[in-house]
Amino acid sequence: MGSCSSCGSGNPPEGAGCPMSGNQPNAAPQNPPADEKFKKSMERIAHKILVLSGKGGVGKSTVAVNLAVALALEGKRVGLLDVDFHGPSIPKLLGLEDSKPEVVEEGMLPVAMASGLKVMSLGFLLNRKDDAVIWRGPMKYGAIKQLLTDVLWGDLDYLVIDFPPGTGDEPLSVAQLLPDADGAVVVTTPQDVSTIDVSKSVTFCRNLKIPVLGVVENMSGLICPHCSKLIELFKQGGGEEMAKRMEVPFLGRIPIDPQIVQSSDDGQPFVFFHQDTEAASAFRRIVQPLLSLG
Ligand code: ADP
Repeated sequence: MGSCSSCGSGNPPEGAGCPMSGNQPNAAPQNPPADEKFKKSMERIAHKILVLSGKGGVGKSTVAVNLAVALALEGKRVGLLDVDFHGPSIPKLLGLEDSKPEVVEEGMLPVAMASGLKVMSLGFLLNRKDDAVIWRGPMKYGAIKQLLTDVLWGDLDYLVIDFPPGTGDEPLSVAQLLPDADGAVVVTTPQDVSTIDVSKSVTFCRNLKIPVLGVVENMSGLICPHCSKLIELFKQGGGEEMAKRMEVPFLGRIPIDPQIVQSSDDGQPFVFFHQDTEAASAFRRIVQPLLSLG
């Protein structure tokens, strides 16, 4: 990867093109061989699941990581792709900050974890942790296509894709590139200020004909560690009400658990290291409908 000589905007991946120089990303008609490779690579992935949220800070990346690990713990072959170019947090959440994908002749090997999970993030490719990616939409489209084409995912049961918050270029690119995706898991917290924004993600999916697999209500209540009573820190039930209102399935609630914060900071996937907690059980219940996708 080199930086763009025309606009100087970060490190566009090879083939991503640069809108300032007039180069376009590897769009379908210009590059049929890449398309063939893309098609073949995607055919080897049985299920593609998008993890979306209209709001930042609701735990979307945490949910993406833990759903991917929970699927891997069920014996599934799982890939996790982080396309949050402006804040790629997956390497941090999995303790992979110093990892680099191995480059081989045919492409790039995703970083493999002990659980069997294969991980790819643009964060792996940045030279420094505080490097900023400043790309326009077409460059993001090209980069996402390259991450799907040139990363040697191999045969997967599930590819879980984590996005930045909102309904911008990244989910739009994936919707265009993967019209056969199984659908989206939409993450919200219970309070109105979140559900109002997150319901826009449901509308986005509807407009782009992406099935909504369901809504996850994260940070749903906290069990007081002293008296064991439920504290409704961000209220409870808002995600479920939103799912009902938007007529999409509700996948379940994940409580607030301070150990999730600690695990994330330590780069240890919560569902793997804290299997006996209520929050880990909640993650396991939430993956059940995903397991029955076939
Ligand atoms: P987003 O991807 O929506 O911006 P993150 O996944 O980065 O959000 O999570 C934001 C913060 O909230 C992180 O510190 C994470 O550990 C914490 N967090 C997420 N879910 C929970 C939860 N259920 N209980 C406690 N902390 C949580």
